[in-house]
Amino acid sequence: MFFILGIDAATWNVIRPNLNKLPNFEKLIRVGKSKELVLKEKPISPSVWCGMFCGKMPWEHKHESYVVDGNIARREDIKVDFIWDILHKEGKEVKALNVPFIVPPYSFGVDFKPVGFGMPTNEKEWQEELERITEKTKELLAENPDLLISVYTLLDRIQHFHWGETCVLEWYQKLDAKIGELLFDTRFLEDKSNKLIVISDHGFCSFGEAKMPTLPEQTEKGKIKGDHHENAFLITVNVDYQINRPQDVFYAIRKQLS
Ligand SMILES: [Zn+2]
Repeated sequence: MFFILGIDAATWNVIRPNLNKLPNFEKLIRVGKSKELVLKEKPISPSVWCGMFCGKMPWEHKHESYVVDGNIARREDIKVDFIWDILHKEGKEVKALNVPFIVPPYSFGVDFKPVGFGMPTNEKEWQEELERITEKTKELLAENPDLLISVYTLLDRIQHFHWGETCVLEWYQKLDAKIGELLFDTRFLEDKSNKLIVISDHGFCSFGEAKMPTLPEQTEKGKIKGDHHENAFLITVNVDYQINRPQDVFYAIRKQLS
């Protein structure tokens, strides 16, 4: 099985200095290959997730925003074939859960209602997303499809509103525990034919440091403290394809499952 675990907005800036508090990330770094992906494209979630799973650059897939001309962009508005479309046509078993290139996030071959329309905004919703994505992903792992893609979105929201606060690390620790359940408790990595990519769509930094703010500083949900950074997070296990940009995830899967 090829498993892509997406963590929207996960950043080495939080993970690297706190590895003593993130035992499962630490273990994953030991068994896999780690890398900081430096995006050459704009670090915006819908565009990066879209490119990661259709293999196209932003000027080719032309999908930049969740809302276009006042309307929520839909899957059908994006004129590309995603990896799940291609592999499904070829008879492969593919499951995709909560992929946030649109809102609410997109699922393929899975019945899932995203938490908070895919924009979880408070502690209760963040916890709910952690738990529901973890449980669903465990079910899907047990089905052993050819390809499983699963994405957590909560860190993006948490870091926009709480960057610089201690609660950010606490949420990484909660996520770390879930990663332990998914990757180590299930013994997924003990099967050497299994392949894993853990990846974020962009990193994070303080609001003032961001080269290109993705939100206004003041929003109806509160003041924005953090914003997207072009350095994204990547760990691979048993993947021999070189991943230098999000689009390479598409090609790594394609090479393995053709
Ligand atoms: Zn994002």
